[in-house]
Order: sequence, then C-alpha cells, then structure tokens
Amino acid sequence: MKGRTINEVRVRNASLRWPVTDDVQQARGQVVNGIRRRAKYLLIELESGGLMIHLGMSGALRICDADDAPRKHDHIDIVLDSGFCVRFNDPRRFGVFLWWDAPAGNHPLLNGLGPEPLQGEFSGSYLWQKSRGRKGAVKNFIMDGKIVVGVGNIYASEALFMAGIHPARAAGRISAMRYEALAGAIRDVLERAIRSGGTTLRDFIGSAGNPGYFAQELLVYDREGKSCFQCQRPIKRKVIGQRSSYYCPSCQK
Ligand SMILES: [Zn+2]
Repeated sequence: MKGRTINEVRVRNASLRWPVTDDVQQARGQVVNGIRRRAKYLLIELESGGLMIHLGMSGALRICDADDAPRKHDHIDIVLDSGFCVRFNDPRRFGVFLWWDAPAGNHPLLNGLGPEPLQGEFSGSYLWQKSRGRKGAVKNFIMDGKIVVGVGNIYASEALFMAGIHPARAAGRISAMRYEALAGAIRDVLERAIRSGGTTLRDFIGSAGNPGYFAQELLVYDREGKSCFQCQRPIKRKVIGQRSSYYCPSCQK
C-alpha cells in the first residue's frame, strides 16, 4: 500500500463495532505514507489524516483485484491506483474502520495505552512501579492495555508459568526481581509466538492465509489435567477476570 494513492473507499456494510462514517472518504485521492500498528490498531497514515482498522474478533484484510466479486462479509474495499484493493472481511462485525486525524491529533482509542512489550519503555522495573498498591491478580494486571498492550490471555498464562508466578497473586505483592523475570518471559513468549506465525486454536490465520504453529509450543495454556513439563504434576485451570487461566500449582507461587 505504501506509496500508492487511494482511489476509492467502498463501504458495502457500515455497521461494524461502530458505524463506518463518511469521514473515511477523506482518504480518497491521498497517498499512503506509512503503515503502523499500535496495540491491535492498524494505522494507515496518509498525507493528511489516516485510516484506523481493528480486526475485532473475526476480521481479516486481504489483497485482491479491485474488480474481484466480493464474497460474503466483505464489508469494505480500499481501492488503490495499482488496480488492487485491500478488502476488509468480518463475519462477526466487531471490527473497527475509522477515520483518524493523524499526525495532528491522537485518537481517543489510542490515548492512554501502555507501552508495546517489545519496545524500550517496557521493563521489569516499569511493571514493578505500576503495580505498587494493586490488589488485583497479576494476570489481569499484565492483560490491562493501560499497563502494557499485546499480552493476550494465552501469552499471559504462558509468561506467568515461565516466570514461576501464580496468576492469581496480587500484582502489588510481587518483587522487582520477579517482575524482571516476568517482563523477560513476556518478551520471550511473544517473540517465539511471532516466529511461529501466531497461535491457531480455532480460526486464526496469518498474513499468508496459513495457521500459526505456536499452539504446539504452549506450556500450560489449554493443557488442563496434562502433566507439567517441569514437575509432571497436573496443570490446573482457574477463571480469573472471566478468562480461563492455566497454571501449575507447584511451579507457580
Ligand atoms: Zn510444575
């Protein structure tokens, strides 16, 4: 998309998570200067303003010929001057497609987000400082986008196992040293998952339409009753913050 001009934004179905408004038509005639990601938001930066896309629960983008007949749930096309279009498909319609006044202003959805876990600002001492006085479970703490973005349910369970921390332990009662281990484990699990193309448990597909293979490397997630790779005792499941959490009761304290 980079360097191409957007000829048209075709909206077939505007009822996504929030209605797709006519604002997005401001993209017409503009050159794509860059593509960025912040948390789960994809930011298409134009000469003036930009488009902000979130795939929600079931959204996908694919590149096709601008003349290809749309399939079911193909809601929006970004038609480029190359004759290709980037097509947004979303069966469950929890996705987001919004106009964004970049770089002049931040979007409210992006303000207040915590640092990216694979970038400089994120560290054990950052987590330790943010967690002081917090009584909630550490698993909810590391999954809170205001603290750090990108640590989803699977990776939170995995990182806590790797760091030997019980998922229900109060965030404010974990030492700086243990947060150092946890920050390292979060980075490690995310980097390995990215290398494996992500984690396909149900319907996740990567950018080339392929599944992600990280599910084969999961240490605790979705392994209830199976034996711990470290101590052979059975992995337990517990609901924390309405999400299934998997852990080893003897390896994680
Ligand atoms: Zn164990």
